[in-house]
Amino acid sequence: MKDFRDHLDQLEKQGKLLRVKREVDIRFEIAAGIRKISDTDGPALLFENIKGFPGWKVAGGVYATQKLIALALGLPIEADDKSITKRYLECIDKQVKPKLVDTGPVKEVIIKGADVDLTKLPVPVYSELDSGPFLTAGVEIGKHPDTGIQNVSIHRRKIVGKDRTAILAKGAQHLGLMITAAEKRGYGLPIATVIGTDPSLVIASQVNAPEGVDETYIAGAIRGAPLEMVKCETIDVEVPANAEIVIEGVTIPNEREVDGPFGEFPGNYITMSGEPLSEVPLIKVTAITMRKNPIFQAMLTGMPMTENHILRRWALSAVAYRALSKIADIKVYLTLGETGNYHSVVAISKKDEAEPKNIINTLANLRYGPKHVVVVDDDINVHDPVDVEWALATRMQASKDVVILSKPVTAAGDAFGWPKMGIDATVPLKDKKWYQRTKVPGLEKVDYV
Ligand code: MN
Repeated sequence: MKDFRDHLDQLEKQGKLLRVKREVDIRFEIAAGIRKISDTDGPALLFENIKGFPGWKVAGGVYATQKLIALALGLPIEADDKSITKRYLECIDKQVKPKLVDTGPVKEVIIKGADVDLTKLPVPVYSELDSGPFLTAGVEIGKHPDTGIQNVSIHRRKIVGKDRTAILAKGAQHLGLMITAAEKRGYGLPIATVIGTDPSLVIASQVNAPEGVDETYIAGAIRGAPLEMVKCETIDVEVPANAEIVIEGVTIPNEREVDGPFGEFPGNYITMSGEPLSEVPLIKVTAITMRKNPIFQAMLTGMPMTENHILRRWALSAVAYRALSKIADIKVYLTLGETGNYHSVVAISKKDEAEPKNIINTLANLRYGPKHVVVVDDDINVHDPVDVEWALATRMQASKDVVILSKPVTAAGDAFGWPKMGIDATVPLKDKKWYQRTKVPGLEKVDYV
């Protein structure tokens, strides 16, 4: 069965894994390596000598570039935007049920009760103003208290003690809703944090599946075989049998702690809900299970583009593409701007004047859809910011082409996501001729300069 080590081997064979033999400190040095390879389109890193943590290795930047995500998806290393989006769509459609097995490598070491000590794990400190060490590549699995359906998602988790972590899972996020549902009944929500699996689980955790979809099924589609799952030791949750590390725990009802500051995905210290500091739920850790000689996984967020953005980018692109291709029989190109969350540009071959605003409304209603949407004609290169700016400068009139929408609200009254702005930068159909790019005839004959 494919696991994290197989994936690292695969990367090494393709020249996309570098073993770092020199000693590194968990404070900033691992993050600095991931920052550098994100900015230079470099290889993933396997740190083999961690100061103060003998026997541990830390893998970093495993999904930090487009080439690395292409390999993680089983695509050729040079896969483009379009084929990555297509691959996501195929996987969302084709779900494969996980398989329960008796045991697996993740049970090689079992630590329970008073022996639990999270400070023995090489958990990095990432950005300059961070309040402490955070788990960032931990895939959280919990069961919904009503339906028993598992949910898979990633949330930052600060280590606040030997057996205590904070978890930023709030509001209308699926795991946040589950924690609240359990609290209302007066008990904590059991949650397992899975670190170091084959790429399918991490990728599946980012696909924006609707509430009630168990993302382990999507992981099965990505890996092309059922995920093999084992039962946890101390909680009623199932986790991949070949994970490097699993941290089992239960939320402490109604206890909250401020977990920030933490360098977040917009490239500053502000969270998704727009706050620098906020109170988040706490978890009591009940067990740690792991492989022998475990490989910890570090993942960087912060200034775009790095791992977090790469993982979000095509997941959101796929959902947006699907939603848009439903509303009109038009050719749609979609690209996402900085942060992999906030900006998108859609090019259409417009047939009707209503289409741009339909597109804006559709994207605005997506869960965590982009904050800003610019709709352009298909003669604009959506990948070229100067071309898009030209369309904004020449094809948009602020008084009629800008739409501002308030934050969407769920049926239960929870606001989610953010307010949206849409801009129609397409030309009026009747005046198309006059909006085309000016051309000087005979340019190809100018051979004297
Ligand atoms: Mn979910």
